[in-house]
Amino acid sequence: MSVEWIESWDRDAGAARVATAFAERFGGEPDGLWSAPGRVNVIGEHTDYNGGLCLPIALPHRTYVALRSRPDDVVRLASAQEPAAGLRTVRLEQVGPGTVQGWTAYAVGVAWALRAAGHDVRGFDAVVDSCVPYGAGLSSSAALECAVAVALDEVHGLGLAGDDAGRTRLVAACIRAENEIAGAPTGGMDQSASLRCRAGHALLLDCRDGSTRHIPLDLAAHDLALLVIDTRAAHQLADGQYAARRETCERAAAHLGLRTLREVDDLEAALAALTGAVDGEGGAVARRRVRHVVRENARVELVEQLLDSGAVQEIGPVLTAAHASLRDDYEVSCAELDLAVDTAIAAGALGGRMVGGGFGGSAVALVRTADLSAVATAVARAFDRQGMTAPAFLVAIADGPAGRD
Ligand code: ADP
Ligand code: MG
Repeated sequence: MSVEWIESWDRDAGAARVATAFAERFGGEPDGLWSAPGRVNVIGEHTDYNGGLCLPIALPHRTYVALRSRPDDVVRLASAQEPAAGLRTVRLEQVGPGTVQGWTAYAVGVAWALRAAGHDVRGFDAVVDSCVPYGAGLSSSAALECAVAVALDEVHGLGLAGDDAGRTRLVAACIRAENEIAGAPTGGMDQSASLRCRAGHALLLDCRDGSTRHIPLDLAAHDLALLVIDTRAAHQLADGQYAARRETCERAAAHLGLRTLREVDDLEAALAALTGAVDGEGGAVARRRVRHVVRENARVELVEQLLDSGAVQEIGPVLTAAHASLRDDYEVSCAELDLAVDTAIAAGALGGRMVGGGFGGSAVALVRTADLSAVATAVARAFDRQGMTAPAFLVAIADGPAGRD
């Protein structure tokens, strides 16, 4: 059984690709080359928009952009991943919620958000190329936004990418781009990971106040690896379901008189208070959602402690518990994700779970380095037996944040 690995590009090679594509498309030199990583979240899923905790790492898989500023407010964009779209042209003046369709919304949305924050951002010509898989729950959308954000920051001398406080403001602009211009109601984990992660570290992000802690993560030193399994299952239901989960959580928090579910400090009391309230099955649906969010925050804290104390392999069962919670309480898993996790564990993984919004996309498994190939092969074989599309794999090694190439 052959197994497909999703290779990351060497940074120089990625930069060279967009430099060449820029010259072919627009002629001459861009002002610069920038890139931003996709991410995988170790633990803390569907917590970001609930003011909770998460623990992403930046992937070596990055989205590259070559960009040249223009004196007017015209944006011209092309992406190697969207060849059919050709060159897209948008005037920044006309950008607003609902006005830009398709992939360009993620890029021009960043320029729009920076302008809305009072920065003097003009039009640009840019080409994009990426080795972050699309729609795989590894945040190609944030990688695109954040690559454009650091590019615009530098060509306009905004100086935000120079320190973490400034990067946090770039995160805010990228979130607005995704929420308001691309119309995807995601939380802030993806953009924070792409702009604020540190190589060799996981980023403990507290979405209540945006504070972070960089936790050293050297799995190889423990003969371990984080195997990412892209199930290739399209998350068709994802958009409406994601918004529905978010809305249920917001209504539950409001019913409890709290700003976000992060403020729940007595889970049993909160669950009791939700009986007969909010919606669905006499509040049972809301209770399941709340239980996931509150326990998931606790699992992030547990993983933090385990990493701090060097008990790295003990995070395996915590990942598996998170998967059960996402499957049974949050109800965002699917057959492919369950099969990936169950098969990986049966083949020797120490634990695993779905990552990202759900209904498709990727899973992760904590695997002994020596077992990587056997676990991947077992998962590929199980998918084949079920007649599912062949999955693809990568090993997640914590890489660096968005920046200039
Ligand atoms: P994920 O972020 O998990 O990969 P999303 O659905 O949030 O999945 O984002 C995927 C979308 O982001 C694509 O459908 C496309 O519109 C846009 N996108 C991401 N990367 C690129 C790229 N390299 N070129 C053009 N569009 C991109
Ligand atoms: Mg995304």
